[in-house]
Amino acid sequence: MEKQDHYSFFQGVERNFDKAAKFTRFEAGILEQIKECNSVYRMKFPVRIGDSIEVIEAYRVQHSHHKLPCKGGIRYSMDVNQDEVMALAALMTYKCAIVNVPFGGAKGGIRINPKKYTAFELEKITRRYASELVKKNFIGPGIDVPAPDYGTGGREMSWIVDTYASLKPGEVDAMACITGKPVTQGGVRGRTEATGLGIYYGVREAVSIAEDMDRLGLTTGIAGKKVIVQGMGNVGYHAAKFFYDNGAIIVGLAEYEGGIYNENGLNLYEVVDHRKSTGSILNFPGATNMPNGATTMEMPCDILIPAALENVINASNADRIQAKIIGEGANGPLTPEADEILNAKGAMIIPDMYLNAGGVTVSYFEWLKNLSHVRFGRMDKRFSENQNGSILNAVENLTGKRASDIERTQILHGPDEADLVYSGLEDTMISSYHEIREEWLRLERKVDMRTAAFVVAINKVGVSYEELGIFP
Ligand code: NAD
Repeated sequence: MEKQDHYSFFQGVERNFDKAAKFTRFEAGILEQIKECNSVYRMKFPVRIGDSIEVIEAYRVQHSHHKLPCKGGIRYSMDVNQDEVMALAALMTYKCAIVNVPFGGAKGGIRINPKKYTAFELEKITRRYASELVKKNFIGPGIDVPAPDYGTGGREMSWIVDTYASLKPGEVDAMACITGKPVTQGGVRGRTEATGLGIYYGVREAVSIAEDMDRLGLTTGIAGKKVIVQGMGNVGYHAAKFFYDNGAIIVGLAEYEGGIYNENGLNLYEVVDHRKSTGSILNFPGATNMPNGATTMEMPCDILIPAALENVINASNADRIQAKIIGEGANGPLTPEADEILNAKGAMIIPDMYLNAGGVTVSYFEWLKNLSHVRFGRMDKRFSENQNGSILNAVENLTGKRASDIERTQILHGPDEADLVYSGLEDTMISSYHEIREEWLRLERKVDMRTAAFVVAINKVGVSYEELGIFP
């Protein structure tokens, strides 16, 4: 008989929380407060689509108010439901704590298939959703700051910020009501690729530790590692791109229509061109077509990055996964049952609430940029370049030697916005990995890395609740 999963997505998150809570010092009431979703807003609103009126179902869940604003993406998918949005909002709380971003967790979703609508119809739905959030005080730079998620991107964020600003005339910080905006609309350079780049930095850090790789029977380093990525959207594409650009061998790619596999590696950019011209990744020259995304993930590789949706690795297929490292690009791609099966097999699972936190980290930078009303690097780039030039001249005069043109360009370069965002993200992903790993070692590796990550998160949120004080 096929194995089955027993938990809803939210129950799965709660179960993982409970596993970790045992290793923390907090009293039951604090733990319960951390776990609960503070506010759940379910709405229905009518939108005229063609000749008829459609009643649209949507949500915004604020999981935790221990720090404000709350933060979390907005998802457009037919799978959106209250349990899913609650689970995703809870993960946001833990994610922000892990990467030291001072926000509570939230998430939003609209239950639609965005592919079914024209851009004009999507704009109407999005603007109406934004005005519902304004009406109930569920959006604002100091209240709740959404971002893109599955099925949404910069375009939707632009519609939302525009709707918000028009309903709040004169609010000088209106731009900071949402992140993931295009750069021309107050966005920050580096946000689009941030989640995928963060995944790359996180996995690179994990595979750089010889002791951990020895236990998995792998060598250190990204170069030469065989990688499969599921989902070629914002997160999956950018993760694949940074692995590919840094010498990994992309052996498999999966989309909703199926997958492609070549044990010798796929040229990622040629696959992207092929998809643009044919509308699908399938039938890529030299690759074998796979019937679906699930079977692609079961092919041999060192690193598997599920970057589409939750529950894709579950009780029914987990034992067929061959990857030694599973980097959770998506939120909740493994069910609790899959987690157990893969941990028993000795795989290293780098958990979603750490690994895909690059998006919220750079969203935090975008929010800071919007509140300060100045582009990062604007005040100091030229100053740094002048200083670097003076130092270089002094060194050249003292030594009597001249730097090469390449060295000169590198030394003189003052940081611009993209440099600062990338280095802030890299530093965050590296330091947060070590916070989790230290907890993991403190627990003598008796728990998995997800549990260690939960312990790190609970410790930070718990202290925050304690210090807030509980009203009598
Ligand atoms: P997206 O809409 O840009 O892309 C998702 C891709 O997955 C699409 O191309 C879709 O066709 C594909 N897909 C859907 N079902 C599939 C299946 N069964 N097999 C293979 N591919 C399938 O979404 P995204 O923003 O990349 O988000 C993906 C995941 O990453 C979600 O779980 C999301 O919550 C999470 N995430 C996103 C961000 C972000 O910044 N966008 C940040 C953190 C986490």
